Amino acid sequence: MVFAFFMVVLGLFVAIAYKLRMLTLDGAFSSWGLGVVVCAAFGYQGFGLLLLFFISSSLLSKWGKEKKKELRTLSVESKGRNAGQVFANGGAAFLAGGGYLLFPHPFWLALFIASLAEAAADTWASEVGVLSKGEPYHILRRSRVERGISGAVSPLGLTAAALGSLLISVTGALLFFESRWTIYVLFLTFLAGFLGNVLDTIIGGSVQLGFRCSICGSEVEEHTHCGVPTEQIKGWSSVNNNTVNFISSMLAGLAAGVMMFWLQ
Ligand SMILES: [Zn+2]
Repeated sequence: MVFAFFMVVLGLFVAIAYKLRMLTLDGAFSSWGLGVVVCAAFGYQGFGLLLLFFISSSLLSKWGKEKKKELRTLSVESKGRNAGQVFANGGAAFLAGGGYLLFPHPFWLALFIASLAEAAADTWASEVGVLSKGEPYHILRRSRVERGISGAVSPLGLTAAALGSLLISVTGALLFFESRWTIYVLFLTFLAGFLGNVLDTIIGGSVQLGFRCSICGSEVEEHTHCGVPTEQIKGWSSVNNNTVNFISSMLAGLAAGVMMFWLQ
C-alpha cells in the first residue's frame, strides 16, 4: 500500500519535471523506473537522496543560463534530460537498488551514495565551472583551453565538485547510518565521489569523443553545431559523455562499496 503510494508520488514528480522541461518523455519514464527500484530498495531515504541530486542539479543548470547559451551551442536548446542521460547519472544507483533487493548488504548502500555523489560532483563541476572567469586548465594537454571542454578543470569547478559530492555524502550518511558509521560513510563516499569526478575529467579529456565546428571553430561534444555537421577531432567512436559519466559513477560507487565491505 505504502509502496503503491510511492509509485504514484513518483509518477507525479516525473510528470512535473517533464512539464517543466527538466526531462524528455523517455527521460521521464526511465526516471520513474529508476525511482521505483531505488524506493523499493532504500525506502523514502533513497527517494530523498535521488530527489536532492535531481533538484540541485536542475537548479544549477538554470543558473547563469544566458551566459551558458553564449558559451555552448547556439543551435541546441535544452529539452531536458533524456533516458541516456538519466542512466548515465543514475544507472549505478539503479544497479545498487537491484543488488540490495537481491542481497541486502551495506555494500550496495555505499555504492548508491557514492555513485550519486560522483554524479553530483560531475554535474556541479560542469554547470558551475563553465561560468568560471579565467580559462580552465586541461589536465592532459597541460595548457589553457576554452571553457566547457571535457578534460578541463578550474578552481571554481573543482570547488563545485567537492561541494556537490559533500552534499550527497553528508545527506546519505545521515539518512542511512548511525554513530561512527555516519562518519565513515560520509568520508568514504565524499572521497569516492570527488576522486571519481577527477577520473571522469581524465577519461573525458582523453578517450571521449570530441568534435570541432567548422563554422565557429569551437570544440564541442555534439554531432552538429551552428547548423552544420561537426568534424571528429578526438576520442573513440563508442565513448560519449554518457558512457564516461556511467563508468566514473560506477567506479566511484564500487570503490566506496568495496571499502565498506572491507570495514564491515
Ligand atoms: Zn559552431
